[in-house]
Amino acid sequence: MKMSHELDRLRQEVDEVNVKLLELLSKRAELAQAIGEVKKAQGIHRFDPERERDMLNWVSEANPGPFDDKTIRHLFKQIFKASLDLQQEDHKKALLVSRKRKPEDTVVHVGDLPVGNEQKTVIAGPCSVESEEQVREVAQALSKQGVALLRGGAFKPRTSPYDFQGLGVEGLRILRRVADEFGMKVISEIVNPSDIEKAEQYIDVVQIGARNMQNFELLKAAGSSQLPVFLKRGMSATVEEFLFAAEYIVSGGNDQVMLCERGIRTYEKWTRNTLDISAVPLLKQESHLPVFVDITHSTGRRDIQLPVAKAALAAGADGLMLEVHPDPAVALSDANQQINIPQFEAFMDEIRQHGRIQRSEP
Ligand code: PEP
Ligand code: MN
Repeated sequence: MKMSHELDRLRQEVDEVNVKLLELLSKRAELAQAIGEVKKAQGIHRFDPERERDMLNWVSEANPGPFDDKTIRHLFKQIFKASLDLQQEDHKKALLVSRKRKPEDTVVHVGDLPVGNEQKTVIAGPCSVESEEQVREVAQALSKQGVALLRGGAFKPRTSPYDFQGLGVEGLRILRRVADEFGMKVISEIVNPSDIEKAEQYIDVVQIGARNMQNFELLKAAGSSQLPVFLKRGMSATVEEFLFAAEYIVSGGNDQVMLCERGIRTYEKWTRNTLDISAVPLLKQESHLPVFVDITHSTGRRDIQLPVAKAALAAGADGLMLEVHPDPAVALSDANQQINIPQFEAFMDEIRQHGRIQRSEP
């Protein structure tokens, strides 16, 4: 009985100390905000490491125990950080790409084609542009299925320098000519920041590939582009890093960004990459940008693409990307994973049962 009385008394004292601490913390926060205003008026940088160092030294010197210095420094460091965060501009607290900043879904406009509305968009085409005939054969099949976004790599970021590197600008010209024949839009990867402006005359969407997700100069150049951007997740990038990469583009002035989960690298060998399906609802929750799933590069094999595509749509993806080649066995890149035209047609028939797939009339 006596012991429990003592415990109650001590707990009450702790409660009172908590309230006092809270008052002091709030008082300190107000002072930090006032300091922030003065610094702003004087044009001084808010973070002052020398001042922080001095304050940490003083609290260590004044530390009466029982906490050791390391603990006290850690606790105060947290307080300093929280105060500095209070002084940060709003855009540092909530990213432009975040739902916190913009609750409603972004619809990206690829010319007159809306992406990210209630309909699901399919982007398809060969891994690489190899010839005009090859692209035309695929585009015709896509067009018959109502697919309006034609993909094809002209600048190929290949692992080996001895592999086919793509046709470059000539590849973009081929894509444009063929797409115009069928009333389609072109999406193609650009790897060099200085090529973005040049590419604007041939393509409708700039793709930034997984290997370039953190090529910050390329992201900045895409931020100044007039074209929508299709940003693929880096193969070792966290979801947060992926969103920061998108933030580079949006903060540069281009809010027309689509995100694409294309699998990440794990120890699993039976797929080329491991599709991180949880990234889809996470990205949809955290960001207002449209989210795609690349069912080709994530799996690296044809036999599971259909169930993976269904899973992507069920998880909330706004669209799918896949590679289609007239004769995958002789493709100059990604021969093991591209599907042929009859397989693509069967795929489209199936996938239409699992979501409202956009159908564009040429
Ligand atoms: C591609 O889509 O052409 C491609 C190279 O994919 P990723 O950048 O995802 O590897
Ligand atoms: Mn490919």
